Amino acid sequence: MPDEAKRASVAALEVATRAAERYLEGLDERSIPASIGIDEVKDALGRDLPEHGEPPAEVIERLVRGSEPGLIAIPNPRFFGWVMGGTQPAAIAADWLVSAWDQNTGMRDITPGTVGAEELAAAWIIDLLGLPAQAEVAFVTGGMMANFTCLTAARDEVLRRAGHNVAEKGLAGCPPVRVLVGAERHDTVDKSLRLLGLGAAVAVDADDQGRIRVDALERELARGEGPTIVALQAGNVHSGAFDPFDAAIDAAHAAGAWVHIDGAFGLWAAASPRLRGLTRAIERADSWATDAHKTLSVPYDCGVAIVADRAAMRAAMGVSGAYLSVTDSEEHLDPYHRTPELSRRARGVPTWAALRAMGRSGTIALVDRLAGSASALATGLAGMPGVEVLNDVVFTQVCIALEDDDRTAALGEALRAGGEAFASSSRWRDRGVLRFSVSNWGTDQVAVDRTLAAVRRALSSI
Ligand SMILES: *Cc1c(COP(=O)(O)O)cnc(C)c1O
Repeated sequence: MPDEAKRASVAALEVATRAAERYLEGLDERSIPASIGIDEVKDALGRDLPEHGEPPAEVIERLVRGSEPGLIAIPNPRFFGWVMGGTQPAAIAADWLVSAWDQNTGMRDITPGTVGAEELAAAWIIDLLGLPAQAEVAFVTGGMMANFTCLTAARDEVLRRAGHNVAEKGLAGCPPVRVLVGAERHDTVDKSLRLLGLGAAVAVDADDQGRIRVDALERELARGEGPTIVALQAGNVHSGAFDPFDAAIDAAHAAGAWVHIDGAFGLWAAASPRLRGLTRAIERADSWATDAHKTLSVPYDCGVAIVADRAAMRAAMGVSGAYLSVTDSEEHLDPYHRTPELSRRARGVPTWAALRAMGRSGTIALVDRLAGSASALATGLAGMPGVEVLNDVVFTQVCIALEDDDRTAALGEALRAGGEAFASSSRWRDRGVLRFSVSNWGTDQVAVDRTLAAVRRALSSI
């Protein structure tokens, strides 16, 4: 790089560092929702492609000026919208280096610096979650792609067992694949099935917390035969509930089905001795999807797809090509044999950094703190006039409602407009609800107390 370009690059990074420091330090005090809309952001950034370029540092200054007021403070410890995590310091810094290092992390022998960190992170995740040691781990963009990756392996394997090779024949003429899901599975399971050409799943009845009913699953399994996939859930986005894995996996395996578990945030309960009972028997499933950008609080984006059967994963995701350097050994697959992507950033490296920074005890403490904060929030909310907590708060989700849907919606709006705490509105079990999803490493008792005070103010304003 010429000296001038080097200096420009350093200057831009310095502007970015200062801006990030200001943003992170101001997080606790700034109003959570974006304070300007998308049109104002575009105006501030400048709408027209400039004829001539400008120095990198000026570009970054413009970006900070234009975009910052349009940011929603997702990493604020009082942000409880949807299911979104915060960002841990070591993970942010590691993420920056992943960009600066520019390692296209698909081949072990070519980019050992980043694959090494990813393989360690993968092994630690398997260890923390108590999953089979030989399982293959893929770092993908999120829970959606983790579901997709696992369900691809599932589809191909159940069809292979039925004598149909998808890689050769495609889906034309294949026996029908039954996919059974709980009535309250996450939409990304349906979207994955759509992308996979499997059509709509059979929705199996769920109980009042959204858990799949094993008697209904058994009935549905008995209704047909042939290639079957059962997708279970660890962590319902409304109730936080976990499917009854032990009995559901028994029933599914007895019918010869592949069992997948969508545990985008909930799978992490397995890391905590106190909460592990919620995930009992998950290790007997065939594949698991989870996120690092939720519970673990690494920056977007990082999901994790885990498949117990290496051959099934390799067959579903593997690539070949003379110009690629295939270094598969008995012991290790190259990353590009596990992910839908070929070229990819080393998104497992920030996960390595987060786990290294927390250690085993810190990771357990994180999971326990999230669940503890959710239960403290629920207790505080239940004590407020007219507030009903609708779910059994077993993990990190709290779902509340007021006397009627209009008032519940008004409470959500007033809370968000106040800027101090953020929860998102939804519908669950035919009621308008306000959801508090505790998914940020920084959420503690102070954040809970400030949130409860903000809800009290919002309540008295509607
Ligand atoms: C968030 C979530 C997903 C999707 O994950 P992304 O990381 O947003 O792609 C899937 N399932 C559940 C249960 C989730 O909470």
